[in-house]
Amino acid sequence: MNYAIAIHGGAGVKDRHDLTPSLEEKYLQGLRQSLMAGYFVLANEGSAIDAVESAVAVLEENELFNAGKGSVFNADGRHEMEASIMCGQRVDAGAVCGLRNVRNPIRLARKVLEESNHLFLNGEGAETFARERNLYFEPDEYFYTKERYEQLISAKLSKPRGTGTVGAVALDSFGNLAAATSTGGLTNKKYGRIGDSPVIGAGTYANNSTCAVSCTGDGEFFIRSVAAYDISALMEYGGLSVKEACNRVIMQKLVNIGGEGGAIAIDNKGNIEMCFNSNGMYRGYRKENSLPVVFIY
Ligand code: ASP
Repeated sequence: MNYAIAIHGGAGVKDRHDLTPSLEEKYLQGLRQSLMAGYFVLANEGSAIDAVESAVAVLEENELFNAGKGSVFNADGRHEMEASIMCGQRVDAGAVCGLRNVRNPIRLARKVLEESNHLFLNGEGAETFARERNLYFEPDEYFYTKERYEQLISAKLSKPRGTGTVGAVALDSFGNLAAATSTGGLTNKKYGRIGDSPVIGAGTYANNSTCAVSCTGDGEFFIRSVAAYDISALMEYGGLSVKEACNRVIMQKLVNIGGEGGAIAIDNKGNIEMCFNSNGMYRGYRKENSLPVVFIY
C-alpha cells in the first residue's frame, strides 16, 4: 500500500492582505514541519495512528495554530483545549475536552484510546489521567500569545468566531487509516463550550473500510451535520468517492445550513481530498516518495 499523510491548520485563515510574505512563509514552514514528522513515521513502517499523532503534536507546539501552545483564549482569559484521535483498523477512538495546561492534548487523547477503559474524558478527570500517564504540563504563560489575547479583546466587542484547529489523516503501508484533530476552540467561548473537534463523527472519524477525516470550522454546524461520519457514510452506503463525499458535505450540506469550514480526508487507496467553503484552509499533504505540498488559499 502506498502510504500518505494530509494535514490542516484550520479553516480560520488570515485575510490575504493581512499576511505578509514572511508570515506566510512561517505558516507554510509550520505545515511542512508537521508533514515531515508524520511522513517520517510512515516512511519507517510506522502506523497511521502514530503518524497523525506526531503530525498534530508538531502543530500543537507551533504558536501560529489554534491548538496546544497557540490556543485561543476563552471568555475567562484562560485556555480550554480539546482533541480526538481515531484508529480506522480498530474503529476505536480516544477524546478529551475542557483541558487546561496539558502541553499536547492529542497525546492525551491517544493515551485515552490505548490505556483507559473509556473513550471520552473531560476537564479535571482528564488532567488527572494525564498526570498518571506522566504527560507534560505547562504553566498558563506557555499558552499566552499576544495575537490571541488581542483576538479575545476584539471578540469581546463583537461576535465570537472560529479561529482554527489542527488535524491530520494518514494511510500507512499496512493499509490502515487514522485521523486526529486538536483545537483551542473558539475565541471568547463561555460556559464550558465544546466544539466538534473532540466529538467522534463530527470533527474526526476513521474507518479502514472507507476513509479518515479531520474537520475544521464552525463546530456547532459540524456537530449538527455529523460531518466527518457523514463523509464516511456517503462512501460506505452511497458508493461515493472520497472527493464526491467531501464535496457533498462541505460544499452542499454545510453551506445549506450556513456552516463555514473544511475537511481533509484520505481513503483506503490513498486518495486525498482537501475541501473548504471558507476563504482558505492551512493545509498540505505528502505521498510516498514525493515532496510535501502546502497551501493556504
Ligand atoms: N471547529 C473548531 C471549533 O468549533 C474551530 C475551528 O476549526 O475553527 O471549536
